[in-house]
Amino acid sequence: MIVILKPGVTEEQIQHIVTKAESLGLKAHISRGVQRSIIGFIGPEDVLRVTPLEVFPGVESVMEVLSPYRFVSREFQAEDSVIQIKDGVAIGGKALAVMAGPCSIESYESLLEVAKEIKKAGARILRGGAFKPRTSPYEFQGLGEEGLRIMKKVAEETGLATVTELMDVRHVELLDRYVDMFQIGARNMQNFTLLREVGKTKKPVLLKRGMSATMKEWLMSAEYIFSEGNPNVVFCERGIRTFETETRNTFDINAIPVIKSKTHLPIIADPSHGTGRWGLVGSIARAAVAAGADGLMIEVHANPEEARSDGAQSLLPKNFSQLMKDLRAVAEAVGRTL
Ligand code: PEP
Ligand code: MN
Repeated sequence: MIVILKPGVTEEQIQHIVTKAESLGLKAHISRGVQRSIIGFIGPEDVLRVTPLEVFPGVESVMEVLSPYRFVSREFQAEDSVIQIKDGVAIGGKALAVMAGPCSIESYESLLEVAKEIKKAGARILRGGAFKPRTSPYEFQGLGEEGLRIMKKVAEETGLATVTELMDVRHVELLDRYVDMFQIGARNMQNFTLLREVGKTKKPVLLKRGMSATMKEWLMSAEYIFSEGNPNVVFCERGIRTFETETRNTFDINAIPVIKSKTHLPIIADPSHGTGRWGLVGSIARAAVAAGADGLMIEVHANPEEARSDGAQSLLPKNFSQLMKDLRAVAEAVGRTL
């Protein structure tokens, strides 16, 4: 923490700040300049975060030196984390992880059909929502536990790992029994109670970016999970709200290299929600891999016209399969495998 002092700060004011910091267990280093003086504090910065130094007389501004998130930062761990989802399926490391499937689980037959197709194309993780966060209460809300049963059965038959959205703290144990990875959706990225609850489990968590969340807020949400004891967190960039209306969201490609520089945890990209249009999914998927994403989440439906949610952004299996082939070349160009 560095405190920049106002011109004309008095010795008494400096001593007042130093005494306060020392009472909190920090060491102060005063650097006196002709125009300006600054104080650097060494020690556990957390205590200063709850002390509003800005209000002390003589203080102009306060700069944080260390990141406010600890466990998820590169300072805590320099090397990349690899998150194990299931035997033989991991996210992070050289191999890209691809999760694909319908927006919502609709029936056993349709999920099995898509699961076989995405597996053949090279995906290792099946996605599909059983509890859906819909804008309207009159839209399809998901099949609930029946959807989870279907997903587990399809996973057993295909050998795919599974991920599904968790919306309610009351469902943690339920989902824990059925799937390999929890998804925290964009709308719940700052549901801190939910984050703490998944933090108390050891199950991998796919943490989607809130639609209006800054990267720092997103990292802090991951810190909630990690600090409760669950280090198995994977970020997912899924587009943010901007003034642009041409696409459903604006896919923030910047997030991929920025998040990778700040944390050791993996980040994947969701070009389906990031664009909202199936015809754009391929371009953004390729761009994300080129930018360093550790994997992708892509919505696939055998009959998008009939999909109960997000049909407009869902790829047909044959288009998904073609995309996987195209992605192999991009992956190779950036030293990854698929
Ligand atoms: C989803 O994955 O279907 C979903 C609802 O995603 P998001 O939370 O990113 O909107
Ligand atoms: Mn969806």
